[in-house]
Formats: sequence, C-alpha cells, structure tokens
Amino acid sequence: MLRIYLPNTHSVNNQISITADKARYLASVLRCQEGDALVIFDGAGNCFKTTISKAGKKEVLVDVLEKFPCNSESPVNITLVQSLLKGEKMDLVIQKTTELGVREIVPVVTERSQLRETKKVIRWQKIAEEASRQSGRTVIPVVHAPVSFQDIFTGNDLKGFIFYEEGGERFSDAVSSFIPHPLSLFIVIGPEGGFAKEEVELAKEKGLVAVSLGKRILRAETAAIAAVTLAQYALGDMG
Ligand code: SAH
Repeated sequence: MLRIYLPNTHSVNNQISITADKARYLASVLRCQEGDALVIFDGAGNCFKTTISKAGKKEVLVDVLEKFPCNSESPVNITLVQSLLKGEKMDLVIQKTTELGVREIVPVVTERSQLRETKKVIRWQKIAEEASRQSGRTVIPVVHAPVSFQDIFTGNDLKGFIFYEEGGERFSDAVSSFIPHPLSLFIVIGPEGGFAKEEVELAKEKGLVAVSLGKRILRAETAAIAAVTLAQYALGDMG
C-alpha cells in the first residue's frame, strides 16, 4: 500500500493536491499511477484513504475516499538516548528503532564516544520520516540535536534503563519494578567503547536502572534494537 507523510493535510471538496518534493517522491520514487490507492497520514493521528486522480511530477491530485483516525503507536513512549556512533551505524539504529516504535531519539556525546559532534541530524530525521512512512507509523519520531551525557539528567529524574555491558539487573526483574507500567521510558545505549563507570553511576543516581542484555557483548546497534524490542514486548504492544 502506497503511504505518504503529509503534515497539515486538508482536503478541499474531497480533493488533496500534493506538490513539490512530495509529488516528485510519489511520481518518481514510488512511481504512483492514476487509479492507485494512496494512504496519507498527517503525523497528528489522521489518515486519508485516497485514490490518485492525476499523477504528475509537479502535482499529484487525489480524491479522498475516507478520513479516519489512525493510531499504530505503542502505548509506551520510548525515548532512545543513543551515544553517537560512527559511520552508518546511527542510520541503522534510527531506522530500526523507528520501525520498532520509539518516539524520540536523543544522540549523546559520552566519555568514550569516538564522535564528538555531527552534521547528520537532518539526515537522521529524514531516515526517521521514511521509516515511519514505510512502517505505517502514525507519528514521526523526533531526532534531537546531540547533547552531552550529563545534559540528559538535568531537571527531572528519568524512568528507564541504562544498558551496561559490564552487567546489571536482569531485564525481566528491572521491568517488574515498573508497576504500574510507565507511559514513558528512557533507554540509554553506549558507544562502541562502552560506558565509563561514572556515567553508569550518574545514571543510577538519577533513577535509571542498569540492565544487562546477557553475557555476550553486543555491538551498540544490536543492543539498541534488542533493548527497544524487549521494552515493547514487556511494556508496549509487541507482547
Ligand atoms: N566496549 C565494550 C563494548 C560496548 S558495546 C567492549 O567491547 O567490551 C556498546 C553498548 O551496547 C554498551 O555500552 C551497552 O550500552 C550495550 N551493550 C552491549 N552489550 C551489552 C550487554 N551484554 N548488556 C547490556 N548492554 C550491552
């Protein structure tokens, strides 16, 4: 099913005109044709079931068949705090955790991050938008600009887990302490070099629980995907 994200969508006389880069994307990338079915989601919980009446590179015109509330979101709002990773690894983490339903992604610079800054936030936001479109998300996760590890803890105490390769609680025990189930949850994953002990101590002081993913040392990108999956299984809608 063709799907496209179109913020602030309004139909006029049951028609929606799609122009500019979204029209080009539909016509050139998704190769839509007249008569094709197309679902438009506006990122605010509305979906439009439409059929394409005119498919041009400059404008795609659709007839709206039905507007309906759509919600494919998990009941738990997961914020993934991910230490900056080199190369394409952040792309993979953002794509996969978007499919798995995270709501916010906060890149952080930690003591052992090999990357101290990045110019890729816009690229990562586009990856999140495309993964949301492909996976039928109702909203697009927000990818924040990188912050320092300490910045995450300013202000509120956080509820959630820091995944520590040197060991921690079993996930099932850590989760069972969350009764009633929280509506929002932080998941913190380290860089290729792992966490410094004082980082884990600070996280614990601020209310996070250090959790182990078992005896094997996973790559950060594997740990991020596994952690979000476990959280969605235990607290979200993948159980
Ligand atoms: N420097 C470490 C690897 C760090 S793995 C080493 O080579 O020994 C990168 C991140 O993935 C870690 O900081 C942690 O957040 C997560 N991770 C990897 N394996 C894990 C495990 N078994 N338990 C909990 N977290 C893990």
